[in-house]
Amino acid sequence: MVQRNTWQRERVREALTDARGFVSAQSLHATLRDENTGIGLATVYRALAGLAAQGEADSLQSPEGEALYRACVSAGHHHHLICRSCGLTVEIEATDVEQWARATAERHGFRDAEHVVDIFGLCAQCAAVRGAATADDPRTEKRDAH
Ligand SMILES: [Zn+2]
Ligand SMILES: [Zn+2]
Ligand SMILES: [Zn+2]
Repeated sequence: MVQRNTWQRERVREALTDARGFVSAQSLHATLRDENTGIGLATVYRALAGLAAQGEADSLQSPEGEALYRACVSAGHHHHLICRSCGLTVEIEATDVEQWARATAERHGFRDAEHVVDIFGLCAQCAAVRGAATADDPRTEKRDAH
């Protein structure tokens, strides 16, 4: 197989490594456009899919159904905790989940079972910022009786 556009793929890989946490193809494309690389969105999609297929990138679906990618730190099977506000990602092991997934698949006679389990939430920092913002929210202010 002939590898075309190798420099573009390398550039996408670099941008992915520079990104903090999981990013969509669109936001990665926007970054590359700012740098005047001339790399098209379709090429970004292809490059990301290729990196994910070779295990060089993690891919997952956001709660909104968008495909997100990340240059992965861990090589083996693992799970993620992802802040839906700032994108901070923590790689986690989930021994309970592994056992549950294996046992459940076996009970139903499934072989070669795979699973994707990622936890989305607000990281401690974002939760603190949001808490402060809520305190200043005018809707929570007491109103005068008259
Ligand atoms: Zn990962
Ligand atoms: Zn956060
Ligand atoms: Zn697992």
